[in-house]
Amino acid sequence: PAKTMDELVSLCKRRGFIFQGSEIYGGMQGAYDYGPLGIELKNNLKAAWWRSMVYERDDVEGLDAAIVQNKLVYKYSGHEDTFTDPMVDCHECKSRLRADHMKDIKVCDNCGSTNVTEPRDFNLMFKTNVGPMVNEDSYTYLRPETAQGIFTNFKNVVDSTSRTLPFGIAQIGKSFRNEITPRNFIFRVREFEQMELEFFCKPGEDEKWHEFWVGARKQWWLDQGLAEENIQFEYVTGDDLSHYSKSTVDILYKFPHGFEELEGVANRTDYDLGSHTKAQDEFEITAKVKKNEHSTAKLAIRDLEANKWEIPFCIEPSAGLDRGLLAVMTEAYTEEELPNGTTRTVLKFKPHLAPIKVAIMPLKKNKPEIVALAKELKNKLQKLGLGRILYENTGNVGKGYRRHDEVGTPICVTVDFDSIEKEGAPVTVRDRDTMEQIVVNAADLPAYVINYFIN
Ligand code: ATP
Repeated sequence: PAKTMDELVSLCKRRGFIFQGSEIYGGMQGAYDYGPLGIELKNNLKAAWWRSMVYERDDVEGLDAAIVQNKLVYKYSGHEDTFTDPMVDCHECKSRLRADHMKDIKVCDNCGSTNVTEPRDFNLMFKTNVGPMVNEDSYTYLRPETAQGIFTNFKNVVDSTSRTLPFGIAQIGKSFRNEITPRNFIFRVREFEQMELEFFCKPGEDEKWHEFWVGARKQWWLDQGLAEENIQFEYVTGDDLSHYSKSTVDILYKFPHGFEELEGVANRTDYDLGSHTKAQDEFEITAKVKKNEHSTAKLAIRDLEANKWEIPFCIEPSAGLDRGLLAVMTEAYTEEELPNGTTRTVLKFKPHLAPIKVAIMPLKKNKPEIVALAKELKNKLQKLGLGRILYENTGNVGKGYRRHDEVGTPICVTVDFDSIEKEGAPVTVRDRDTMEQIVVNAADLPAYVINYFIN
C-alpha cells in the first residue's frame, strides 16, 4: 500500500487519475477533477456497488433524486438546525479550524498557538438562490447527503413497486458540504459522491439488520481489494452520534494519514420517515421529531399481520465514493523490487476496477498488417463489454508495460511479426502482477480475456 499521500497525489496527476480543481486559476480548496483514468476507476467502483446492492439482491430498488430540493426537506430533516461542525478561529495566524471534539481543541493545528476562540457552530450546507428573484425566501441548499431524496420518495417507490418490508432504496450521487478545513487530498472535500442505501425494516428488527449490513459492507470492501488488516470498526456513541442515529458503526480504513472513516452504517430508526410524514399523531413515532406542518404524504407501510399502518425503521450504509477510490488506490499502490535491481510501481487493482482492462500494442508502428490485426483485436475485445480496451501505437512495448503497470492495466497484448506470419496468429499476453508472458492465438483471445475478468 501507499505510505504517503504525496506519492498517490503525484501518481494521480502524472497518469491522469485526479487533478486539482480550477488549477489554471490557482486551484480551489476541497475540489478535485477526475481525469481520463480517474473517471474509469470511479465508474467501475460505482458499478460494483450498484451490482452488489441492486442487481444481486431482490429487495432493493434504485433511485436518482434531484440535488436541489425544496428547502422544507432540510427544515424537517434537521439539517437546517443541526448539520454543523464546531469551528474555532486562531487569533495568531487568523486561520479557521474545524474542532471535531469541542472540548479537546486548545491548540491551533495550523500554527500551534493556544490563542484560539471558543468553538461555535458552523452549518455545513451550501446555500443557493433559486429563480431570478433574490429575496428572503428564494434560497435552498445543495444536498449535504443523498439520503433525503430517498425518504421524500418513499411513498412513490412503495406505490410503484408494491414493496413490503424489509426492502431498501439505493442511490449514488453528488453531495456538498462546506467543510471548514478540507484536507488530505480527496478524503475531505466540499463536493463529493456518496453511495447510500436506506434499508427499511420493521421496528424491532432494526438491530438485526444493522448488524447484517455492517458485515455485508465490510465484505464488499474486502471484495474491492482492501486488506482485512487495514479495516477497523468504530462504534460511535454518545455525543458523537448524529442527531438521527440510535447507533452507528463506522468502517475505518488505514489511509496514508491514518485510520479514518470510509463508510458509516447507521441505525436511523423511524427518525427520517417520522420527520417527513404527514399526520405524525397517527403513528407511534419513537424518534424525537419536529412537528411537520407541510408534508402531503403518509410515509408509512401496511403491516399485513397486525393490520395497521406503521413507520418503518431504517438502516443506512453510507459510503463515500471519493474516499472509497482513495482507499482502493492506497491499497493497490505497490513498489516492487525486480530481480534486475530496478523497481517498478504497480497499481494492483482488482480486475473489475482497473481503468483499462486490456492494452493492445503493435510491436511495430509502421507495419500495416501488424497495426491492422491489433486494431481488429481491440474492436473484438471492446465488444465484450468489460470496460475500456486501449489500442496504443507508440512502438515502444517496454515503456508501454511500465506505464500500464503504473495505471493498473491487468493485461497487455502485443502483436508482432509472429502474429502475422505464423498460423493461428499468436499474440503475446503479459500479466501485470506476475509479469509472465504467454502466447495465445488471436482467435482464443476473447475467451482468455473473458475468463480472466469474469472469474
Ligand atoms: P466525517 O466525520 O469524516 O466528516 P461524516 O461522519 O460526517 O464524516 P457521514 O455524514 O456519515 O460522514 O457521510 C457518509 C460518508 O460520506 C462518509 O463515510 C464519507 O465516506 C463520505 N463523506 C462525508 N463527508 C465527506 C467529505 N467532506 N468529503 C468526502 N467524503 C465525505
